[in-house]
Amino acid sequence: MNTEEKTVQARLQEVMQTLPEHVRLVAVSKFHPQTALTAAYEAGQRIFGESRVQELQVKQAALPADIEWHFIGHLQANKVKYIAPYVSLIHAIDSEKLLLEVEKQGSRCQRIIPCLLQLHIAREETKFGFTPEELLAFLATERWKTLTHVQISGLMCMASYTDDLQQVRHEFRTANELFDSIRHTYFSDRPSFKERSWGMSHDYLIAIEEGSTLVRVGTKIFGERSY
Ligand SMILES: *Cc1c(COP(=O)(O)O)cnc(C)c1O
Repeated sequence: MNTEEKTVQARLQEVMQTLPEHVRLVAVSKFHPQTALTAAYEAGQRIFGESRVQELQVKQAALPADIEWHFIGHLQANKVKYIAPYVSLIHAIDSEKLLLEVEKQGSRCQRIIPCLLQLHIAREETKFGFTPEELLAFLATERWKTLTHVQISGLMCMASYTDDLQQVRHEFRTANELFDSIRHTYFSDRPSFKERSWGMSHDYLIAIEEGSTLVRVGTKIFGERSY
Protein backbone atom coordinates (compact mmCIF):
# COMPACT_ATOMS: atom_id res chain seq x y z
CA MET A 1 0.00 0.00 0.00
CA ASN A 2 1.46 3.38 -0.98
CA THR A 3 1.48 6.53 1.15
CA GLU A 4 -1.55 7.98 -0.53
CA GLU A 5 -3.61 4.91 0.30
CA LYS A 6 -2.37 4.99 3.89
CA THR A 7 -3.37 8.63 4.09
CA VAL A 8 -6.90 7.71 2.96
CA GLN A 9 -7.11 5.12 5.74
CA ALA A 10 -5.81 7.53 8.39
CA ARG A 11 -8.26 10.27 7.34
CA LEU A 12 -11.13 7.81 7.24
CA GLN A 13 -10.35 6.75 10.82
CA GLU A 14 -10.23 10.38 11.87
CA VAL A 15 -13.65 11.08 10.42
CA MET A 16 -15.13 7.87 11.88
CA GLN A 17 -13.95 8.82 15.34
CA THR A 18 -16.01 11.99 15.21
CA LEU A 19 -19.28 10.21 14.35
CA PRO A 20 -21.87 9.30 16.98
CA GLU A 21 -23.16 5.75 16.69
CA HIS A 22 -26.46 6.69 15.05
CA VAL A 23 -24.74 8.50 12.17
CA ARG A 24 -23.59 6.57 9.11
CA LEU A 25 -20.81 7.68 6.83
CA VAL A 26 -21.10 7.80 3.05
CA ALA A 27 -17.53 7.98 1.72
CA VAL A 28 -17.91 10.18 -1.34
CA SER A 29 -15.45 8.68 -3.80
CA LYS A 30 -16.45 10.45 -7.03
CA PHE A 31 -13.48 11.29 -9.28
CA HIS A 32 -11.14 9.18 -7.15
CA PRO A 33 -9.48 6.03 -8.50
CA GLN A 34 -10.39 2.51 -7.45
CA THR A 35 -7.18 2.21 -5.41
CA ALA A 36 -8.47 4.94 -3.10
CA LEU A 37 -11.79 3.13 -2.63
CA THR A 38 -10.01 -0.15 -1.99
CA ALA A 39 -7.90 1.49 0.71
CA ALA A 40 -11.06 2.77 2.42
CA TYR A 41 -12.73 -0.61 1.95
CA GLU A 42 -9.81 -2.38 3.59
CA ALA A 43 -10.12 -0.01 6.53
CA GLY A 44 -13.72 -1.19 6.95
CA GLN A 45 -15.73 1.36 4.94
CA ARG A 46 -18.70 -0.19 3.15
CA ILE A 47 -20.86 2.74 1.97
CA PHE A 48 -19.58 4.72 -1.00
CA GLY A 49 -21.22 7.68 -2.73
CA GLU A 50 -20.88 8.47 -6.42
CA SER A 51 -22.48 11.16 -8.54
CA ARG A 52 -21.93 10.04 -12.13
CA VAL A 53 -23.66 6.98 -13.51
CA GLN A 54 -20.91 5.83 -15.82
CA GLU A 55 -18.22 6.11 -13.19
CA LEU A 56 -20.41 4.25 -10.71
CA GLN A 57 -21.03 1.46 -13.22
CA VAL A 58 -17.30 0.86 -13.69
CA LYS A 59 -16.50 0.93 -9.98
CA GLN A 60 -19.46 -1.24 -9.02
CA ALA A 61 -18.40 -3.92 -11.47
CA ALA A 62 -14.79 -3.89 -10.28
CA LEU A 63 -15.10 -3.60 -6.50
CA PRO A 64 -16.37 -6.04 -3.83
CA ALA A 65 -20.03 -7.05 -3.91
CA ASP A 66 -20.76 -6.13 -0.30
CA ILE A 67 -20.31 -2.41 -0.95
CA GLU A 68 -23.47 -0.32 -0.57
CA TRP A 69 -23.48 2.13 -3.45
CA HIS A 70 -25.29 5.41 -2.88
CA PHE A 71 -26.07 7.73 -5.76
CA ILE A 72 -25.67 11.22 -4.33
CA GLY A 73 -25.75 13.65 -7.26
CA HIS A 74 -28.30 14.93 -9.71
CA LEU A 75 -29.68 11.89 -11.53
CA GLN A 76 -31.12 12.07 -15.02
CA ALA A 77 -34.26 9.99 -15.45
CA ASN A 78 -32.92 8.25 -18.55
CA LYS A 79 -29.98 6.86 -16.56
CA VAL A 80 -31.91 5.31 -13.68
CA LYS A 81 -32.10 1.99 -15.52
CA TYR A 82 -28.33 1.46 -15.31
CA ILE A 83 -28.09 1.67 -11.54
CA ALA A 84 -31.51 0.30 -10.55
CA PRO A 85 -30.33 -3.33 -10.22
CA TYR A 86 -27.88 -2.61 -7.41
CA VAL A 87 -28.07 0.95 -6.02
CA SER A 88 -28.69 0.96 -2.23
CA LEU A 89 -29.93 4.51 -1.87
CA ILE A 90 -30.67 7.35 -4.27
CA HIS A 91 -30.12 10.55 -2.28
CA ALA A 92 -31.33 13.26 -4.60
CA ILE A 93 -34.83 12.71 -5.94
CA ASP A 94 -35.70 16.20 -7.09
CA SER A 95 -38.90 15.69 -9.10
CA GLU A 96 -41.93 13.47 -9.29
CA LYS A 97 -40.84 12.50 -12.77
CA LEU A 98 -37.59 11.06 -11.43
CA LEU A 99 -39.39 9.22 -8.64
CA LEU A 100 -41.76 7.65 -11.18
CA GLU A 101 -38.83 6.52 -13.29
CA VAL A 102 -37.24 4.87 -10.24
CA GLU A 103 -40.59 3.16 -9.63
CA LYS A 104 -40.62 1.88 -13.19
CA GLN A 105 -37.05 0.60 -13.09
CA GLY A 106 -37.51 -0.86 -9.61
CA SER A 107 -40.46 -2.78 -10.94
CA ARG A 108 -38.41 -4.04 -13.87
CA CYS A 109 -35.75 -5.50 -11.64
CA GLN A 110 -38.21 -6.51 -8.92
CA ARG A 111 -36.62 -4.33 -6.30
CA ILE A 112 -37.86 -1.74 -3.84
CA ILE A 113 -35.37 1.07 -4.23
CA PRO A 114 -34.76 3.33 -1.22
CA CYS A 115 -34.84 7.03 -2.14
CA LEU A 116 -34.46 10.37 -0.38
CA LEU A 117 -36.32 13.49 -1.45
CA GLN A 118 -33.94 16.38 -2.01
CA LEU A 119 -34.83 19.58 -0.29
CA HIS A 120 -33.67 22.89 -1.70
CA ILE A 121 -32.95 25.16 1.22
CA ALA A 122 -29.63 26.74 0.30
CA ARG A 123 -29.53 30.27 -1.03
CA GLU A 124 -27.80 29.24 -4.24
CA GLU A 125 -29.94 29.30 -7.35
CA THR A 126 -28.15 26.37 -8.90
CA LYS A 127 -28.95 23.64 -6.42
CA PHE A 128 -31.55 21.06 -7.36
CA GLY A 129 -34.38 19.89 -5.19
CA PHE A 130 -37.88 20.64 -3.96
CA THR A 131 -38.40 23.89 -2.06
CA PRO A 132 -40.19 23.29 1.25
CA GLU A 133 -43.44 24.49 -0.36
CA GLU A 134 -43.01 22.20 -3.37
CA LEU A 135 -42.18 19.26 -1.17
CA LEU A 136 -45.23 19.74 1.03
CA ALA A 137 -47.44 20.18 -2.02
CA PHE A 138 -46.09 17.00 -3.58
CA LEU A 139 -46.56 14.97 -0.41
CA ALA A 140 -50.08 16.33 -0.03
CA THR A 141 -51.05 14.84 -3.41
CA GLU A 142 -50.46 11.42 -1.83
CA ARG A 143 -49.67 10.09 -5.31
CA TRP A 144 -46.41 8.71 -3.93
CA LYS A 145 -48.42 6.36 -1.72
CA THR A 146 -49.33 4.21 -4.71
CA LEU A 147 -45.70 3.45 -5.54
CA THR A 148 -44.62 -0.07 -4.70
CA HIS A 149 -41.03 -0.18 -5.95
CA VAL A 150 -39.62 2.88 -4.27
CA GLN A 151 -39.32 3.45 -0.57
CA ILE A 152 -39.17 7.05 0.54
CA SER A 153 -36.57 6.76 3.28
CA GLY A 154 -36.08 10.38 4.26
CA LEU A 155 -34.74 13.74 3.13
CA MET A 156 -31.46 15.02 1.75
CA CYS A 157 -30.17 18.56 1.56
CA MET A 158 -27.08 20.63 0.95
CA ALA A 159 -26.46 23.83 2.85
CA SER A 160 -25.28 27.03 1.18
CA TYR A 161 -21.60 27.01 0.38
CA THR A 162 -20.51 29.76 2.75
CA ASP A 163 -18.20 30.49 5.68
CA ASP A 164 -21.20 31.77 7.58
CA LEU A 165 -21.67 28.78 9.85
CA GLN A 166 -24.73 30.28 11.48
CA GLN A 167 -26.39 30.31 8.09
CA VAL A 168 -25.39 26.69 7.50
CA ARG A 169 -26.75 25.68 10.90
CA HIS A 170 -29.95 27.54 10.26
CA GLU A 171 -30.48 25.69 6.97
CA PHE A 172 -29.87 22.27 8.50
CA ARG A 173 -32.20 23.18 11.34
CA THR A 174 -34.91 24.15 8.89
CA ALA A 175 -34.45 20.81 7.11
CA ASN A 176 -34.65 18.96 10.39
CA GLU A 177 -37.85 20.71 11.44
CA LEU A 178 -39.40 19.93 8.10
CA PHE A 179 -38.29 16.31 8.42
CA ASP A 180 -40.01 16.01 11.81
CA SER A 181 -43.20 17.58 10.60
CA ILE A 182 -43.32 15.43 7.44
CA ARG A 183 -42.63 12.29 9.41
CA HIS A 184 -45.41 13.16 11.81
CA THR A 185 -47.94 13.96 9.08
CA TYR A 186 -47.22 11.30 6.48
CA PHE A 187 -44.94 8.61 7.82
CA SER A 188 -46.00 7.91 11.39
CA ASP A 189 -46.91 4.38 10.28
CA ARG A 190 -43.83 4.01 8.05
CA PRO A 191 -40.68 3.70 10.16
CA SER A 192 -38.52 3.45 7.04
CA PHE A 193 -38.78 7.24 6.74
CA LYS A 194 -35.79 7.90 8.96
CA GLU A 195 -32.76 9.22 7.09
CA ARG A 196 -31.57 12.80 7.23
CA SER A 197 -28.77 13.09 4.70
CA TRP A 198 -26.98 16.32 5.42
CA GLY A 199 -23.38 17.31 6.00
CA MET A 200 -20.29 17.30 3.75
CA SER A 201 -16.58 17.69 4.54
CA HIS A 202 -16.75 21.29 5.68
CA ASP A 203 -20.04 21.18 7.58
CA TYR A 204 -20.78 17.62 8.68
CA LEU A 205 -20.17 18.25 12.38
CA ILE A 206 -22.77 21.02 12.35
CA ALA A 207 -25.07 18.75 10.35
CA ILE A 208 -24.82 16.07 13.03
CA GLU A 209 -25.72 18.59 15.71
CA GLU A 210 -28.75 19.42 13.59
CA GLY A 211 -30.08 15.90 13.28
CA SER A 212 -28.15 14.29 10.41
CA THR A 213 -28.17 10.49 10.29
CA LEU A 214 -26.13 10.16 7.10
CA VAL A 215 -23.12 12.35 6.30
CA ARG A 216 -21.62 12.49 2.82
CA VAL A 217 -17.91 13.14 3.19
CA GLY A 218 -15.48 13.18 0.26
CA THR A 219 -12.57 15.62 0.36
CA LYS A 220 -11.85 15.07 4.02
CA ILE A 221 -11.21 11.38 3.34
CA PHE A 222 -9.90 11.21 -0.21
CA GLY A 223 -8.34 14.65 -0.67
CA GLU A 224 -9.09 17.17 -3.38
CA ARG A 225 -10.75 15.89 -6.56
CA SER A 226 -9.13 16.59 -9.90
CA TYR A 227 -11.96 17.19 -12.35
C1 LIG B 1 -19.34 15.80 -3.87
C2 LIG B 1 -20.48 15.73 -2.95
C3 LIG B 1 -20.30 15.56 -1.56
C4 LIG B 1 -18.94 15.50 -0.89
O1 LIG B 1 -18.35 16.76 -0.83
P1 LIG B 1 -17.00 17.01 -0.02
O2 LIG B 1 -16.98 18.49 0.17
O3 LIG B 1 -15.89 16.53 -0.87
O4 LIG B 1 -17.10 16.27 1.26
C5 LIG B 1 -21.43 15.44 -0.77
N1 LIG B 1 -22.67 15.49 -1.30
C6 LIG B 1 -22.89 15.66 -2.61
C7 LIG B 1 -24.28 15.72 -3.12
C8 LIG B 1 -21.80 15.80 -3.48
O5 LIG B 1 -22.04 15.97 -4.78
